[in-house]
Amino acid sequence: MSTFENNTIVITGAAMGLGLAAAKVLAKKGANLVIVDYNEKALNEAQAELASLNENIKVLPVVADVSDEAQVKNYVDKAVEAFGTIDGFYNNAGIEGKQAPMVDYDIDVFKKVVDINLMGVYYGLKYVIPVMQKQGKGNIVNVASVGGIRGVLNQTPYVATKHAVAGMTKNAALEYGKDGIITNAIAPGAILTPMVAGAFKQVNPEDPAAAEKEYASRNPIRRLGKPDEVGELVAFLLSDVCTYVNGQIIAIDGGESNMY
Ligand code: NAD
Repeated sequence: MSTFENNTIVITGAAMGLGLAAAKVLAKKGANLVIVDYNEKALNEAQAELASLNENIKVLPVVADVSDEAQVKNYVDKAVEAFGTIDGFYNNAGIEGKQAPMVDYDIDVFKKVVDINLMGVYYGLKYVIPVMQKQGKGNIVNVASVGGIRGVLNQTPYVATKHAVAGMTKNAALEYGKDGIITNAIAPGAILTPMVAGAFKQVNPEDPAAAEKEYASRNPIRRLGKPDEVGELVAFLLSDVCTYVNGQIIAIDGGESNMY
């Protein structure tokens, strides 16, 4: 019997990339899903695909921009209204921003990255944690990055906000572990999603495939990560067997972040 049967998992940024990949893994394992994204068309396509993977689950799409507090409160309310509980929360939505040296960085883009990557993750925690406190249980996975552990050239707001996600993860774990809430973050390296494909286009607009190849050659495993590899890790961290790993920032990067 699946550990996710009768569980409800809320996933932000679920229309594509790492959010959708984890949603597929969790759908197959029997979780009911609340999928949240601001791309309505892609979200509806994701809903149809996820529902087709397992006829025993329900998939509720909620259109929301995670940088808007009222819309975050709304997706949490909708989840509780529809399913009664939130057993797991994959606080995943995020953007990269434009790549540029620190002093040249466009301030409006900088603020947008902060609004989505930092405030969006915070609002999610602010509204999901009280629901889990009432239940006396719940697992949360925030999405940091290797850029939440180390610097990444030309990505100052991304790196700053992902370090902030790591910090909020540690604090949530410290403050709410006593309420039965387990909070961790993942720190993916380069995983081939639409976001990373876009980053390679910024690095080498004429030949993004060459940028990808060059990047992969520096990884100890000599390839990029796959979204479903991340999905499996997220499923473990959201499951009811993840009971004593708390407040950790877990790299999933082929070992690259250990390299000097
Ligand atoms: P992606 O761009 O492929 O998908 C992100 C999804 O989030 C999209 O469906 C998008 O519409 C949605 N989204 C973005 N901003 C939103 C907002 N304000 N409100 C609601 N939905 C929003 O990106 P991805 O690669 O799947 O990245 C997902 C998360 O993983 C991000 O937080 C990213 O920083 C992080 N991450 C990714 C990688 C990687 O290699 N792919 C590495 C480290 C961290």
